[in-house]
Amino acid sequence: MDNRKLITIAIDGFSSSGKSTMAKKLAKNIGYAYIDTGAMYRAVTLFSLRNGFFHGNNLDIESLEEALAGINISFAVNCEGRTETMLNGENVEKEIRGMDVSSKVSIVAAVGTVRKALVAQQQAMGKEKGIVMDGRDIGTVVFPDAEMKVYVDASPETRAQRRYDELRAKGDNVTYEEVLANVTERDRIDTTRKESPLRKADDAVVLDNSNMTIEEQDKWLLDLYNKISSQE
Ligand code: C5P
Repeated sequence: MDNRKLITIAIDGFSSSGKSTMAKKLAKNIGYAYIDTGAMYRAVTLFSLRNGFFHGNNLDIESLEEALAGINISFAVNCEGRTETMLNGENVEKEIRGMDVSSKVSIVAAVGTVRKALVAQQQAMGKEKGIVMDGRDIGTVVFPDAEMKVYVDASPETRAQRRYDELRAKGDNVTYEEVLANVTERDRIDTTRKESPLRKADDAVVLDNSNMTIEEQDKWLLDLYNKISSQE
């Protein structure tokens, strides 16, 4: 890391927009911490599924709220340098990425008390700055004063294809249609919910990466960081 002033970097956008990959890489390049806030909502969802709080798509919000204080989410770095999500001390990184959790996470993320608890943790994690955080409400709610805000967009079809390729590569037996339906449904819930709906912060820079390679996105993001941090 150089001696530039530490800043806060907020990256928001739709599901499977590639924001986590680019956020992670930027953090590594500039020596910042990286927090995937989606993983935190996913971990709470896994906890809810395991504890029988879901009946189909109906969530027993009261039971979840009662259990909330006993849900501890943390991040650990594995021997390959990858960050893994821990739920009450158990590594749940793989489980939280599957379709079971993906199909329910937006329901959990719409619960105000869950958001309040997770947002407070996220703000504590970022209070020293020098952090890249990605999610849906980072630039609008978690760090409205972030020096750098990016809003990542791409068509639902592009995003579904990326997610489908990722899941198939991991051996998950999903169809493209299932993934597209999940992406579209999550977009709908995430943008229309009452509590902190996904929206672009007024001062966020938009990146539509539908037709960009990963290298092009990484360069775009690093250039933006260099520009903003040299002005700070
Ligand atoms: O980023 P990812 O797709 O893993 O996020 C999973 C879900 O968690 C999103 O679809 C959204 O419902 C929720 N989420 C959120 N606010 C965040 C991050 C994720 O509501 N800051």
